[in-house]
Amino acid sequence: MEEIKGLRKYELPALPYKIDSLEPYISKDIVDVHYNGHHKGYVNTANTLIDRLNGIIKEDIKGYDIHGVLRNLTFNINGDKLHTLYWNDMAPEGKGGDKPGGKLGDLIDQQYGSYDRFKKFFTEAANSNPGTGWAVLTYDKENGNLNIMTVENHFMNHLAEMPIVLILDEFEHAYYLQYKNKRADYVGAWWNIVNWSEANKKLEGLLE
Ligand code: MN
Repeated sequence: MEEIKGLRKYELPALPYKIDSLEPYISKDIVDVHYNGHHKGYVNTANTLIDRLNGIIKEDIKGYDIHGVLRNLTFNINGDKLHTLYWNDMAPEGKGGDKPGGKLGDLIDQQYGSYDRFKKFFTEAANSNPGTGWAVLTYDKENGNLNIMTVENHFMNHLAEMPIVLILDEFEHAYYLQYKNKRADYVGAWWNIVNWSEANKKLEGLLE
């Protein structure tokens, strides 16, 4: 039997800007806690679970709680992936905000009528999300749709084969320190720092 190398670990990606770069829309304190606390925590916990799973696979251990371990691993790996997308989908004022260009701008105009209509609809979707989750824009290669979707918690199963072009974190840790219970104000502020050039680059990569 070949030597089992095991599953590889995850690494916390660097934040693409300084922790105070999203001010005044998202405070330095929020980015600090969110990135150095929550995001790092998902990566660390995913790696602890991978160690455990590697041990289970190598030793062929029976009778452990597979459902619990894999559910927890799913939560934490998705936590890492979703936050990496989220950080990269924002940029400091001046670089972010404005309107989508390129193929993304064209497709939004075709499918939603205009950027303003799209923004209104995405905002409504985000504000309708009950509790903990995400608002996302996905691209479906099957018919070329840009789908506005909501994700509960970190569980992504229903987004199979539909890469995320744009993502908004709606967990309380993403806004509470600054916006308290006014989540809609955070959603409104977020539009000022959306990194449209990154979102368009992502979409254009999927069209190739
Ligand atoms: Mn988060």
